[in-house]
Amino acid sequence: MSLIDNYNSKQEPSISLEFFPPKTSSGKANLLERIGRMNILDPTFVTVTWGAGGTTAEKTLDLAGIVAQSFDTPVCMHLTCTNTDTAAIDEALEQCRALGIRNILALRGDPAIEDNAEGTFGEFKYAVDLVRYIKGKYGDEFCVGVAAYPEGHFSMEDDTSVEQDPLRDVQFLKEKVDAGAEFVITQLFYDADKFLAFESMFRAQVSSTVPIFPGLMPINSYLLFNRAAKLSHASIPQDILDKFPPEIQADDNMVKSIGVDILIGIIDKIYRRTEGRVRCFHFYTLNLEKSVAEIVAESPTLSHIVDEGDESDEGVISDEST
Ligand code: FAD
Repeated sequence: MSLIDNYNSKQEPSISLEFFPPKTSSGKANLLERIGRMNILDPTFVTVTWGAGGTTAEKTLDLAGIVAQSFDTPVCMHLTCTNTDTAAIDEALEQCRALGIRNILALRGDPAIEDNAEGTFGEFKYAVDLVRYIKGKYGDEFCVGVAAYPEGHFSMEDDTSVEQDPLRDVQFLKEKVDAGAEFVITQLFYDADKFLAFESMFRAQVSSTVPIFPGLMPINSYLLFNRAAKLSHASIPQDILDKFPPEIQADDNMVKSIGVDILIGIIDKIYRRTEGRVRCFHFYTLNLEKSVAEIVAESPTLSHIVDEGDESDEGVISDEST
C-alpha cells in the first residue's frame, strides 16, 4: 500500500517508525517480535534503512520484505544512489516489486571520502537524480519520498565544511518535490522552533500540500543523545541541556524519563503550532521500543492511538539490543 494513501486515510495524529536491519539472525528474530508488538501503535508506515553503496542491500530487502508481508502497515525502503549504477537500482526496485514494497525514500547517501575526493559519484550525483530515475522508469508504481534538514544539510567542499543553511538547501528540496517526491522525512532535531521555521519556509517555497514527517530520536542515554545530535549536526537548545545536570547524566532511567517528556513537548508544540498540518511523527527507533511507546502513551497529541487500541493486545515489554 502507498504510505500516502494510508496517511490520507487518517485524520488523527499518528506515528511512523524507522528500523535498521540487524546483523545477526537472532537480532532479526528479536526485532520482528518487537515490530509485531509495536503494531499496537498503529504506525502509518515503517521504514527500513539502506547502507550507502548497497552495503546492507540483502539484509534491508529481507527485513523490509518480511515486514511488508507480515503486517498491514505500508513499508518504505530507504535507497541511496551515491556510488551506484542504474543496474543496481533496478535490481533493488525489482525486488521491492516482488516483495510488495511500494514506498521508497530516495537518498543520495554519503559518498566514501576517497570517492568524494576524486569526484566520482557514479551515475547519480544527487538524490534528485534518483527521484527522476524512479519516476521516469516506474511512474506511480512507487511512492517516492525524500530527506530534508530543518537546520540545513552539513556538507564538505574541498575539505572545508559549508555552513549549514536551510535556505541554501530549499531550492534543491524543491527540485526533488518537482521531480515527483510525494513526502518528506526530516533529519532528527531537538529544536522545535527550528523545525517550525523550516516548515513555514517549505510551505511558502516548496509545496503547500506535500506532507513533512518530523524526524525524532528518543533519548535513551545522555552519551548517545549528544553523539546522535553531533553526528546529525542537530543543535540541542540550552533549556533542554539544562534538564540534564551532571549528577543525573549517568542514570539512564532518569535520562530516558526526562527524554520522554522532552519529546512529548516537541511533538505537542509542533502539532499545536502547525494547527495539525504536521500530524505524523517519524521516530528513529534505533530498533528499540520502550521510549517510543511511552511517548505515544503519554503525549496529549498521540495518546488516542493507545486509548483506542485493542486492549487485548500485549503492551510494551523490554528493550534488549538487536
Ligand atoms: P541530496 O538531496 O542530494 O543533497 C545532498 C547535498 O547536496 C545537500 O547539501 C544539498 O543542498 C546539495 N544539493 C542537492 N542538489 C543539488 C544540486 N542540484 N546542486 C548543488 N547542490 C545540491 N543515509 C544512508 O546511507 N542510508 C539511509 O538509510 C539513510 N536514511 C536517511 C533518512 C533520513 C530521513 C535522512 C534525513 C537522512 C538519511 N540518510 C541515510 C543520510 C543521507 O544519505 C545523507 O544526509 C546525505 O548526505 C544526503 O542525502 P540527501 O538525499 O539529502 O541528498
